[in-house]
Amino acid sequence: MKTRTVHVGNVLIGSGHPIVVQTMCNTHTADVEATVAQCLRLVKAGSQLIRITVPSLSDVPALQEIRKRVPAEVPLVADIHFSAEVAMAVVPVVEKIRINPGNFHPNHEKARELFGELLEMCKQYDRAIRIGLNHGSLGKYIVEKYGNTPQAMALAAMEWVEMCIEADFYNVVVSLKASNTVVMVQAYRELARLMQEKGVVFPLHVGVTEAGNGDSGRIKSCVAISTLLSEGIGNTIRVSLTEPPENEIPVAQYLAQRYGPVMPGTDRASLSAREASILKAACDWGAPLLNHEIDDIPIEDEYLKDEIMQACRRRFYKPEYIACPGCGRTLYDLENTFNKVKERTGHFKDVVIAVMGCIVNGPGEMADADYGYVGEGFGKVTLYKGKEPVLRHIPENEAVDRLVELIDSSLRSE
Ligand code: SF4
Repeated sequence: MKTRTVHVGNVLIGSGHPIVVQTMCNTHTADVEATVAQCLRLVKAGSQLIRITVPSLSDVPALQEIRKRVPAEVPLVADIHFSAEVAMAVVPVVEKIRINPGNFHPNHEKARELFGELLEMCKQYDRAIRIGLNHGSLGKYIVEKYGNTPQAMALAAMEWVEMCIEADFYNVVVSLKASNTVVMVQAYRELARLMQEKGVVFPLHVGVTEAGNGDSGRIKSCVAISTLLSEGIGNTIRVSLTEPPENEIPVAQYLAQRYGPVMPGTDRASLSAREASILKAACDWGAPLLNHEIDDIPIEDEYLKDEIMQACRRRFYKPEYIACPGCGRTLYDLENTFNKVKERTGHFKDVVIAVMGCIVNGPGEMADADYGYVGEGFGKVTLYKGKEPVLRHIPENEAVDRLVELIDSSLRSE
């Protein structure tokens, strides 16, 4: 799909340029040493853009220091939640700002006003923005106005896209992530269609959010991202895994190299033979399954077949897990906890279980999870049933047991 070209520092996104591979730090931003060290590892691994969360104004000086110490040719993206003030404070510091403008203010008109101010600043400093809406965090105004569907996500994004066009600001990337691969693919297709209809097509940042880890996280990401890339939708990608972010890069490189033009001299994605065959199968079978062109996969490996079928939401053989990748807001050992939760809950049937790193965004981002484990900070956890926090301030060392009890007793009483 022909798009406009967006520049983020020296990196070009869209309109026939190679697909840009990116990831996000999971260090605490205030810990400058750890964040710079992780950025340098990510640059070495092949990340072309690096996103860093900026939870509050007090983190901006750390971001400034990080920007000075990471090679200038690797653009940094500030990840901002809720605060237009923080978004405006980082414009002079980094090359791109990721925001969901709808969350800037509970009053929608005020949110629009703040977004307009941000656009003016980005113009002045020649920055890029990403309008990033996620399925789980559309905001009350959007859900009331459009519902909570892929079409609603695309329409909600179009409101901000149109504001950018009206403001004559075109250095814009858009994303509509979801953990549910069917919702994610439909949302991006709809947004692509609406932008084409509008006559201004911004590049798309494509990813499955809260994909989890291990084979399941990789397969879930590959079936959905490959489906879109094979249709020419997607200009920059992130494979979100609940693992060290370095692990995301080879998977994203595999996808970028399989579907996009490759810069001369680019190294092949460094994958084990097993990993390469799993990714290939997910990419080969993802689109036909998601598009309901086939109902089964002619492969003998039953485990791989089960995983791909579940990633495409065609057959569920184990609980569906949602886990955020973690970021500077993460308040506990997310990866180990997620693995423990998977070990202890694998026997439950037909449930969606979420494990989220922070209480600020976790509950909203869990989307349609039946049960949620959300870090509160200070060694405490809140457990959710649906959207309700049913057990608060549970000590971390008891929380997995309590989650298992909660699921067990709920399922027995149904
Ligand atoms: Fe970071 Fe996870 Fe919180 Fe999202 S839910 S802001 S990835 S810790």
